[in-house]
Amino acid sequence: MAKPILLSVDDDSDVLRAIERDLRSRYGADYRVLASDSPHSALDLLKQLKVRNDSVALLLADQRMPKLDGVGFLREAQEIYPEAKRALLTAYADTNAAISAINQASINYFFLKPWDPPEEHLYPQLDDLLDDWRAAYRPAFEGIRVLGTRWSRRSYELRDFLARNHVPYQWIDVEVAANDPETKRLMEALGPETASLPVVLFPDGTKLLEGAPADVAQKVGLRTRAQTDFYDLAIVGGGPAGLAAAVYGASEGLHTVIVEREAPGGQAGMSSRIENYLGFPSGLSGGDLARRAVAQALRFGVEILAPQEVVSVRTEGSYRILKLVDGSEISCHVLMIASGVQWRRLEAPGIDRLQGAGVYYGGGATEALACKGEIVYVVGGANSAGQAAMNFARYAERVVILVRGESLAATMSQYLIDQIKLTPNIQLWTHATVAEVHGGTHLEEVSILCSDTNKVERVPASSMFIFIGALPRTDWLGDLIERDDRGFILTGPDLLWDGAHPTGWTLERDPFLLETNVPGIFAVGDVRHGSVKRVASGVGEGSVAVQFIHQYLSKV
Ligand SMILES: Cc1cc2nc3c(=O)[nH]c(=O)nc-3n(C[C@H](O)[C@H](O)[C@H](O)COP(=O)(O)OP(=O)(O)OC[C@H]3O[C@@H](n4cnc5c(N)ncnc54)[C@H](O)[C@@H]3O)c2cc1C
Repeated sequence: MAKPILLSVDDDSDVLRAIERDLRSRYGADYRVLASDSPHSALDLLKQLKVRNDSVALLLADQRMPKLDGVGFLREAQEIYPEAKRALLTAYADTNAAISAINQASINYFFLKPWDPPEEHLYPQLDDLLDDWRAAYRPAFEGIRVLGTRWSRRSYELRDFLARNHVPYQWIDVEVAANDPETKRLMEALGPETASLPVVLFPDGTKLLEGAPADVAQKVGLRTRAQTDFYDLAIVGGGPAGLAAAVYGASEGLHTVIVEREAPGGQAGMSSRIENYLGFPSGLSGGDLARRAVAQALRFGVEILAPQEVVSVRTEGSYRILKLVDGSEISCHVLMIASGVQWRRLEAPGIDRLQGAGVYYGGGATEALACKGEIVYVVGGANSAGQAAMNFARYAERVVILVRGESLAATMSQYLIDQIKLTPNIQLWTHATVAEVHGGTHLEEVSILCSDTNKVERVPASSMFIFIGALPRTDWLGDLIERDDRGFILTGPDLLWDGAHPTGWTLERDPFLLETNVPGIFAVGDVRHGSVKRVASGVGEGSVAVQFIHQYLSKV
């Protein structure tokens, strides 16, 4: 924990050195002692300390300084650090001014120069002041702070990124906290930089204006560049399937790297509660599952690059070469595609414009708390929508699930349907399609087409979460890898037509189960044609595939 600060200000360098020395010798173990020879520089320093979230316990200023005297300085400093104790250093001749300053400028004490011996004329009084200060002191938050507004897409993306990568941070919604005195002081200290939201403040005092996930990733030490350019096994996608493959591969001696575009955990990382994963009878959140899997993979020496995106792949002899979005390349003996699926877009006027400003794809775990006391709309009838509705119901006044069909029976697991029925603040609205969303800077209303009455109802709404199925994003594979008409990757027996090998296949053996039409390139999890879209099946496929990788490598 950073030590609180004692700041002394005096334009006379001899006096400044003396007070600094005495403060340090008595308080140096518990406080950081800083000194400034000009009141204006000291005010600038205080603003910087405010932005860093440092605590200031004491301000000690000489009364006679040109341009700004001690009382003037302490009055201005009080605006930045009102809780700091304020003391004046005065010559005997200035005693009267000091006494009246005690009343006018809320100064806590004045010391006469010289203060020798300090054991008699300085420390007892300062001990008293600092004891008082400590009694009311609450240590400041020491991690990353993000300043932004709830309805800004960039702020949402940043918070979502930090949460999914398990980077602790404090969120300061500058609109909600506009009347909070501490937020006001921080905004004033930042000055014109507050126009560049979201602003990310790091504990070392540095900041990022209009912070983007990739910049923050670098700053917090997330690895985005590979340590070497060759691996036995490279995995695209850090969802359950990719992580399982990495754990099994690395534990069996394969030099393994995962390249993940957003955050390890994939879709599962967005799940508020996975209740059907073996071994967790009371369920676990996707975030927890991801965190454990990442720890396990790292323990076996897996390198995880995130956020980092694979944009293309090619083969050169037995090498499979991945091109990353930053232009760098990674080559490997075996490539595993575990890139999963992504939310299907909802086609309705207003959706794209308000995305991140009240309209969200997926779980929006970071948003649940912000929806306290509001009405939340969840679009979709599958398990992901059901889980999200249950999660939002803990905070929102009411959750409305919009489904096109006449019930949830065909699309949602029974255990979730039962839970929803037992939750009084969840309402199911069947035969409902989102026709349009409305709002200026953020979502304000939703128009819903009711297919049973053929009428459109326009209802007030501040948040809408969309869960309407997902599709693989496999365009980056070009013509190299065979896919079905929806983009899911064909593997093993699905590649054989009347027993014939796929075009270009040169080996005598059939493609292994989970192997694509290119030997040594495998596909697992949701991205694979015909896969069961579940965490356990992704984990199963990722683990099983490693056996085929060994067989493949034994012949390379
Ligand atoms: C909200 C929600 C709740 C769910 N609840 C459950 C549940 O309770 N039980 C259950 O069994 N299943 C549940 N599922 C389904 C389950 O999460 C998925 O089946 C599972 O995550 C699939 O794993 P995967 O590894 O194949 O793909 P994904 O989890 O989709 O992971 C793929 C990863 O690849 C990354 N990626 C994609 N393209 C690239 C690229 N070009 N470069 C780098 N990285 C890339 C993505 O960013 C992503 O992180 C839920 C899904 C959701 C969305």
